[in-house]
Amino acid sequence: MTSEAQPSTPASSTRPLVSLRKVNKHFGDLHVLRDIDLDVARGEVVVVIGPSGSGKSTLCRAINRLETIDDGEITIDGKVLPAEGKELAKLRADVGMVFQSFNLFAHKSILENVTLGPVKVKGMKPGPAKDLAMSLLKRVGVDNQAQKLPAQLSGGQQQRVAIARALAMQPKVMLFDEPTSALDPEMINEVLDAMVALAKEGMTMIVVTHEMGFARRAADRVIFMADGQIMEQATPEEFFTNPRSERAKDFLGKIL
Ligand code: ADP
Ligand code: MG
Repeated sequence: MTSEAQPSTPASSTRPLVSLRKVNKHFGDLHVLRDIDLDVARGEVVVVIGPSGSGKSTLCRAINRLETIDDGEITIDGKVLPAEGKELAKLRADVGMVFQSFNLFAHKSILENVTLGPVKVKGMKPGPAKDLAMSLLKRVGVDNQAQKLPAQLSGGQQQRVAIARALAMQPKVMLFDEPTSALDPEMINEVLDAMVALAKEGMTMIVVTHEMGFARRAADRVIFMADGQIMEQATPEEFFTNPRSERAKDFLGKIL
């Protein structure tokens, strides 16, 4: 077969959206990320699981450049993440992040929380920013809370606002670091449902979570981290039914 008959694919649609090459990170003597190699394709949903202290949060923070790396390279949509400067701010806007603690601005309304980034960082006009914010709040089911302050909302609602706020920057990839672990059990599903919907719409996502239900519903791939290394990767089905390493078996035995 020759490739002549094939339509040419632009490089941008085939290259990984997020790519890590030999990424290493130390905190003093502690080697928290060890030779991490990871490619995440456009539209792919990757779930990262592993014991506490294995480096999952550091990995997310490195991808968003909230944390520097010692060596290796991280690229977002083909562009190397620089150490600082204007180019970093631009690339960082491509990476949305949702944390365990929602980190909403306590003295601003829900609507303002979502419009602030687009107006201040992206230079959007207030009118269009409000329209965008309202449509995103509606998407995560909290548009009827727009005029309230964060403290007037439940944890699950606040976390959905945090998702809308991240989406308002129109990121290319969304990182979630244990987005439901601070929530009361009855609120976990409303947040996971919003994330599953986002995944189905084709968002590229890296999600640190121990919610197996989410992984089974939405993940294309599960990555198991331990001691700063990627120890295993597989489909959710494969990983949960047939983990290969002792570390993964041991870990699953504790959380399932
Ligand atoms: P996880 O998210 O998998 O629980 P982390 O990435 O938060 O793991 O942390 C990995 C290791 O790095 C842990 O041992 C943690 O204590 C340590 N660590 C994380 N952040 C810092 C920091 N800012 N300074 C020193 N050590 C840190
Ligand atoms: Mg963590």
